[in-house]
Amino acid sequence: MKASDLNAENSGRPPEDRETAKRLAELGCQIGSRRTFAIISHPDAGKTTLTEKLLLFGGAIRLAGSVKSRKAERYATSDWMELERQRGISITSSVMQFEYLGHIINILDTPGHQDFSEDTYRTLTAADSAVMIIDGAKGVEAQTIKLFQVCRRRGIPIFTFINKMDRDAKNPLDLMDEVEKVLGIEAYAMNWPIGMGSYFKGIYDREKRTVERFRPGSSHKTAEAALSGSLTDEEVREGIGADLLAALREEIELLDLAGNTFDRERVSRGEVTPVFFGSALNNFGVPQFLSGFLALAPRPQPRETNLGRLKPDSAEFAGFVFKIQANMDASHRDRIAFIRICAGRYERGMTVVHTRSHRRLRLAQPQQIFAQERTILDEAYAGDIIGVHDNGTLRIGDVLAERDGLEFEAMPFFSPENFARVSIANALKRKQFIKGIRELQEEGAIHVFRDPHLGVEAPIIGVVGQLQFDVLAYRLREEYGVPVSINHLTYGLVRWVAAEEPNLKLLKDSNMSLVVLDKDDNPAVLLLDEWKAAWMSERYGIKFYAEPAVNR
Ligand code: GDP
Repeated sequence: MKASDLNAENSGRPPEDRETAKRLAELGCQIGSRRTFAIISHPDAGKTTLTEKLLLFGGAIRLAGSVKSRKAERYATSDWMELERQRGISITSSVMQFEYLGHIINILDTPGHQDFSEDTYRTLTAADSAVMIIDGAKGVEAQTIKLFQVCRRRGIPIFTFINKMDRDAKNPLDLMDEVEKVLGIEAYAMNWPIGMGSYFKGIYDREKRTVERFRPGSSHKTAEAALSGSLTDEEVREGIGADLLAALREEIELLDLAGNTFDRERVSRGEVTPVFFGSALNNFGVPQFLSGFLALAPRPQPRETNLGRLKPDSAEFAGFVFKIQANMDASHRDRIAFIRICAGRYERGMTVVHTRSHRRLRLAQPQQIFAQERTILDEAYAGDIIGVHDNGTLRIGDVLAERDGLEFEAMPFFSPENFARVSIANALKRKQFIKGIRELQEEGAIHVFRDPHLGVEAPIIGVVGQLQFDVLAYRLREEYGVPVSINHLTYGLVRWVAAEEPNLKLLKDSNMSLVVLDKDDNPAVLLLDEWKAAWMSERYGIKFYAEPAVNR
């Protein structure tokens, strides 16, 4: 008799039950150690810098390297990012994973530029929490507000890192007030800055009542270096100086008496944001932020589905596609679908059901995308993101699961607000052009409409932000070898109508409206603005819908 059988006999349970119990315990352990979050910020607040420092803690990037060099490396690996370099903005999202103090941390990078908000919003559906970076000198900026609102709608916990305290910043009390007033969320300071700019002396940890002193230029790499001592230490007091010490005492007293109280439950519901101060560039306050974050951030949470709540540690694998990207790497010229695993465990080569087609798919070579490098994954768990090669089967929002019929909440839909006719100069490139438009539409980068009187080679493209047209033209040229001309249209709104709408024929194509078909041949109308839409709806007795029928 084998030892395991003996144990089974002793425990009174058959061996296969014990095996299952062991597997489930292992699954729970793996999933419990996952923290998957997105970083949101206005461009230039320090997202790249903070991400890089976080990765450094996990040993993912062993050499510190400056932000610039990391960016430069990224450009070098993918030529369509040339556009990023030219414009100095980040337009792609990638996924990074690292291990730290027994946790597996997945960071979802989100593009900062407002024109890429659709992609960002979809990425946020894959995150269990968000980290919001605020530039201490600028406070809450426009793009931060928009992204914050999406996180808020999802009800995920939001952590705040107020960056660049080594520079002159706004008054920290005013910054806290700004977060509360502008974003409408309660803020709780986990630590407090002592001075700022050239007088920046460090941060005070409110829970531990310790001070970490700031020494400009030092690397602040390890958590050990963080604790410099308490406010009663003579050396610490001298280092801070009498004036700043008095100001610190006063501000802490004010926070203790008049500030919000710390409430873990409310943090997890996204009602209170824990606020950390620091300087990402100097790697200062970053270890404190990371350990505070890990203590409070949620493990993968259950998701609502049409079949009820799905627990992440359920034995069955389930996930959804939140992003598709073609030609990520010039040397591969392939298309990757990013899947957020919501439940269970992924195993290399496993077969799952593609809910939309009810067909079985083999996840043959899933990859983990680490910045632009790839490694083949053997296993992954709920909370992780895997990238799979896709030949056109997958769409954003598609569900892959062991059981058929499972559906998650619908992806947020963003109606395009800018429209243009896109055409090719060289008719010989027709095939490539059609392929490029189709693939970019499947990626979710553009909305494609068609004038019913014209063919697919004269599409009308809708986008949320103008800059997406530049990216479209750039990618068609670089990735598909098709130069295009883009003729902007004056319409600023699209409204869908019922397929059997009898009054649609009353609309004459004009500067005021244009009847089109969307990618699934649903009839829609391009209109100038909300006001004109309301007027036309009344005048012609047509009911307009903000989304196509499938989303309604
Ligand atoms: P992103 O656009 O949000 O990714 O911002 P980056 O991380 O690229 O940072 C924008 C600029 O701010 C860069 O020049 C950084 O070196 C600088 N920066 C980032 N963090 C700090 C900081 O803590 N202090 C100072 N002084 N500069 C910073």
